[in-house]
Amino acid sequence: MTVRAGFRMAVPLRGLLLLPAFRKLIDPRSDPLTGLQKTPTSLEKTSGFRKPAGCEKRGDTLVERHVLLLKIQHVADMPARLSEAIVLVTYPFKESDLVVSFLTRDQGKLRGVAKRARRLKSSFGAGLERLSQVKMAYFQRETRELVNLDSCELIRSQSQLLVDYEAAVALDYFAEISEQLLPPAEANERYFRLLVAMLDSMRAAEPGRVWRAVTYFSLWATRLAGILPELHACLECGSWLENPEAPQAAYFSRYRTGLFCSHCRRSAELGKSWELSIQSREIAERMLHTPIAQLTQEDWRRETAADLRHFLVRQIEHHIERKLITAPALEAA
Ligand SMILES: [Zn+2]
Repeated sequence: MTVRAGFRMAVPLRGLLLLPAFRKLIDPRSDPLTGLQKTPTSLEKTSGFRKPAGCEKRGDTLVERHVLLLKIQHVADMPARLSEAIVLVTYPFKESDLVVSFLTRDQGKLRGVAKRARRLKSSFGAGLERLSQVKMAYFQRETRELVNLDSCELIRSQSQLLVDYEAAVALDYFAEISEQLLPPAEANERYFRLLVAMLDSMRAAEPGRVWRAVTYFSLWATRLAGILPELHACLECGSWLENPEAPQAAYFSRYRTGLFCSHCRRSAELGKSWELSIQSREIAERMLHTPIAQLTQEDWRRETAADLRHFLVRQIEHHIERKLITAPALEAA
């Protein structure tokens, strides 16, 4: 097989040639595993693109062509992608790398290794900080759970929110819920837009903006994850809780999802239970039909719809089968 055949194999990736990350990969001076530049001398010896003087033997050229072909096949196996993304969580990995969990607009939640990201002169810069909005360039193989992160371009940092302690804990809360709730590699564009809208609304100069965003996010995150229970009827007996002439009290429990009427609260052995007030149920109803920027009628404070947040956290914890670390920290903030 010749070098020319090798290039033909790469033709389906033609569109990707526009990506700087991809161009870097097929550059003979770059390392196909990491996309990082090597010194020209070491690669000139293996790639054959820039032959050092005195390397003209026929045998050497054949070997060089095979090495080049193998590299191109390797690139063809690993499609390059560029996704708009929000960084959720990072974990230290090996000596200087990071494992990054990030939510993309088009591919859902992914995890990848950012090589040398913990070094001072990292090419990732501030892009891997919590909830940074970035354009992430990465390589994804179907057979591997972890993608290889190549680089990221920062679109928006959340650093200005971190000066407010409540807002900082709210960012942790958004990140933890998204990390725990979303299944890997399943696109959920509405969830991505929800997170972006919450970050935008937190920048507003209104008092109570943090509590409004946290409550709105909790409700919509459970809804978009498909675990928001029926809010209008008792889960046990089916009685209508929203009867306008005689609205009923609604209760929720630590151990079961959904709402219960006062009769079933006693008979269904719910264990410890709390009331979800009519006012908070009305707020939930409004939130389900109104963009967050238009929710101006409430004077938002920590106490506003606190029982609704408590109810929603219970639904999430029941689903993920563990406690959220950030929920009590947020309510105590
Ligand atoms: Zn009932």
